Formats: sequence, structure tokens, C-alpha cells
Amino acid sequence: MSPHDSLTEKLEHLSLPVRKNVKLAPYTTMGVGGKALLFVEVRTTSELEQAITLALDESVPYMVMGRGSNLIISDHGYEGMVILNKADHWQILQNHAPASPKNKVSSRFISLDKSTGTADLTYSDHDAEDIVIRVESGIRMEFLIKALLKAGITGLQWFAGIPATVGGAVFMNIHGGNHFFADFVEQVCLTNGRITRTMNHDYFQFDYDWSILHQTGEIVLWTDLNLKKGDVHKAAALAREWARQKANQPRRSAGCIFRNLTAAQQKQHNLPTPSVGYLVDKILNLKGKKCGDAIISPKHAAFIENLGKASAADVMELIKLIQQRAREQLELELKTEIQTIGKF
Ligand SMILES: Cc1cc2nc3c(=O)[nH]c(=O)nc-3n(C[C@H](O)[C@H](O)[C@H](O)COP(=O)(O)OP(=O)(O)OC[C@H]3O[C@@H](n4cnc5c(N)ncnc54)[C@H](O)[C@@H]3O)c2cc1C
Repeated sequence: MSPHDSLTEKLEHLSLPVRKNVKLAPYTTMGVGGKALLFVEVRTTSELEQAITLALDESVPYMVMGRGSNLIISDHGYEGMVILNKADHWQILQNHAPASPKNKVSSRFISLDKSTGTADLTYSDHDAEDIVIRVESGIRMEFLIKALLKAGITGLQWFAGIPATVGGAVFMNIHGGNHFFADFVEQVCLTNGRITRTMNHDYFQFDYDWSILHQTGEIVLWTDLNLKKGDVHKAAALAREWARQKANQPRRSAGCIFRNLTAAQQKQHNLPTPSVGYLVDKILNLKGKKCGDAIISPKHAAFIENLGKASAADVMELIKLIQQRAREQLELELKTEIQTIGKF
């Protein structure tokens, strides 16, 4: 029996139905990519852990997918098992004292657009009472924010409109408004399929678009977040405003393709903003450039959009074009913010 068949049999024995040759494009926001040899959906952290352990036992490569909002999957697909993480339970930890303040990540924030909405986008609820919650990694950010506000808990409103799961948010250390997800992370339970352990904030070496998980490949099972019993009405207004502003961004994309510029790069090239969108639009003049059905978004030039039938190769072609032009015109190396899966 092949390792794939053996893995399928073992997972089905655990009542986890495995599908073969599943198209991955519909599971990503960009909507490109070929098929996964095996595909399994998990609904609890224990199923997630078991699926990883069994894949290791059978030497079948695996990857864990959340919302697929930061992924470009190869047109040739993925020759292993994709685990779609839908573990979405959360709870308040009673009588839990929050840990001491975290090291701050250096920012590359774009100025907030305060002109359009009614909410104060830079307020702080620092003085409100602390509360700690434990949340599973497959929960969707928008669902969690809503559920928390309903329970009188604030803190995550800055991330409204970001199509992430909590696992993806820890992996990438997402940023919204003037905040990083790391600001709220107290400890995280991780597994590599062999060892499951709980690590505190410092282990992750959180940085801009980065956590140590990029190196270790460990998977987030759950995380404890330090939040506030803050002003729910103010937080809800802010969440609505962020979601409104983000709704204007191209949804059929993988978010911003490139990391924003460092302060040193911005200064060296005398640019008014660290935004790569500004650079692609005003300096490289590539906004609206198309390859097949992929386009450098006319709405926001830091995004590449799928107009309908784009391939991963089309998207990669545009990424390479932007990088090449930045190198030729400015001697600038643009680093990607997205994850690529499979062979390109
Ligand atoms: C329209 C749009 C707007 C966006 N706006 C923002 C924004 O404002 N700020 C921002 O920071 N990002 C933004 N993004 C990017 C994206 O939403 C984030 O990077 C997000 O964290 C990805 O989460 P995900 O669950 O979709 O992860 P996926 O895309 O499914 O996976 C991304 C990576 O995370 C890993 N991963 C997923 N789950 C786990 C887990 N449980 N444990 C360990 N690793 C895991 C995957 O293996 C993969 O390597 C945007 C994207 C889109 C499409």
C-alpha cells in the first residue's frame, strides 16, 4: 500500500474523511493553484495534531491552511496533504493574570486614513481592565472579533477586515492600524507532530510579517491573548470603520504582495511613504499592468488581483516584473510578504 493510501486509511479510521486530488484555488482568496494529492478538514486541535502526526508517520508532506489569504499555490498543486484548519473554539480564562508588557516590533505603518470615517482610529484602551482568552488556531478573525465584542471584550478591533485565521495571524504577525497581533499574544501551544509544547511570547521573535514559525515549521494549536474589558461601542465603531476601509482592497488577492520599505530604504530613495503600492504606482508606473487574468490592482498597486481565470504563473510573472523594475530603476530588492506553495 502506498504511504498516501495508508495515511488515508488511518485518518478515516479516526473519522476524518480524506479527499483526493482536490482543487486548492477555491480555498484561497487569490483563487489560483492546482490540486492537493490529499485534503483533510479538521475541526478540533486534537484532530489537527493527529493529522500532522500521522502524516509524519507515513512520511507524507503536509501543510496547514487557514483562510488561504496569504498564499500563492503553484499551478502544479501540492504533492502532499493539505490540512484545512477549522478548529474554532474560544474561552475566557478566569482568574488569569496577564504577563508583563511585550517587546515592541518596529513598525512600517502607513499613515492611517482618518479623513473618511467617524471612528477615532488611533485611540488606546490601555487603561481598561485586562482579560485573557484562549482561542483555537482555526478561528476566523472577523468571527472572533464579533464574538468578543458581544462578550464585552475589546482589543482585536484593529484587525477587522483581515481575512485571517488566528494561526495565520500568529505565523505572519499580522498588522492592523498601529498594532501587531504579537502585541496581544501571551503564550501559544505549538506542535510539530512529535512534541506539543506551550511557548511564551518571547520565543516567537515576532517582527514585521515574521515569527520564528517561518523557521521551525511548528503549527499553532491555540493561543492565549491578553485583551481588555474596554469600551465595546468605541471598539465596534472602529472595527466597522476598518472593515469598511479594507473592503475597498481587492479581495481576490493575497493581500499586499511585498513588505513595506524600511525607514532606511524610504530615506535613501526620498519617498514620502514606506508603501510599496506608492512605489509600484508612482515610481515604477506599473499600476494596471496585466499578465493573463492577473493584474497589478488599479485600486491598490501593492496588490495583485485575479480578474477571473488567472494562473499562479501569471501572478508570479507580475511579481517578477515589479521586482525587476525596482532593481533596475532603484537598485532596490523588494521582499515578498506572501507564502508560495509547491513548485514554480
Ligand atoms: C484582502 C486582504 C487584505 C489583507 N490585509 C492584511 C492586513 O491588513 N494586515 C496583514 O498583516 N495581512 C493582511 N492580509 C494578509 C493575510 O490575511 C494574513 O497574512 C493572514 O495572517 C493569513 O492568514 P490565513 O489564516 O489565511 O493563513 P494562510 O494564508 O492559510 O497561510 C499562510 C501561512 O500561515 C501558515 N499557517 C496557517 N495556519 C497556521 C497555524 N495554525 N500554525 C502555523 N502556521 C499556520 C500556513 O502554513 C502558511 O504558511 C490581507 C489579505 C487579503 C487577501
